[in-house]
Amino acid sequence: MPGDSNWLFQSALSCVRQRSRGGESPLSRRRFFCYGLLGIVSSLYGRLSTTFGEQPQSKLQIVEGQVVRLTDVLKAQDVQLDTDAAPWALALRTADGKLLPILKTLGSRALFQDARLLNRPVQLQAHVLPRSSFLVVHRFYTVKNSLPHEVYYWCETCAIRRDYPDKGVCECCGAPMELREVPLK
Ligand SMILES: [Zn+2]
Repeated sequence: MPGDSNWLFQSALSCVRQRSRGGESPLSRRRFFCYGLLGIVSSLYGRLSTTFGEQPQSKLQIVEGQVVRLTDVLKAQDVQLDTDAAPWALALRTADGKLLPILKTLGSRALFQDARLLNRPVQLQAHVLPRSSFLVVHRFYTVKNSLPHEVYYWCETCAIRRDYPDKGVCECCGAPMELREVPLK
């Protein structure tokens, strides 16, 4: 279906182009017909794309809650997650009790690597994967005293800053990276 509507759209567009090149009066009946057809097909194409094929891009939003390990939540419901899956299964528990699974990406990596960031108030700048409840995190902040805090890892000796801890030690001097949480200005 989307292929058909694409063909219709192209036809309507070429119809308008041909009329434009033909040097006819802008008020010609044929030209009105072409623009009308283009309008109808564009609107039809938009609806079909949403229904059948192209994914609508969801908006970046701020979601608040606590990041929890799904293995702990599932245990309470007598579901045993495989041990090797447990470290990669995180979700945001919102204030109204919803669980939104978090995909491990660059923006959420620190949450998967540092348990100190779990089970405490956070604010995620994220988008929801279309037609799902999966969160793609772009940035996150810890929340202390109702204030969002920027999170990073710091080596004082080398003045190196990283957004996630990896092995928890500085790649330059090997000293432990310090978790820093700084209030947003
Ligand atoms: Zn260092």
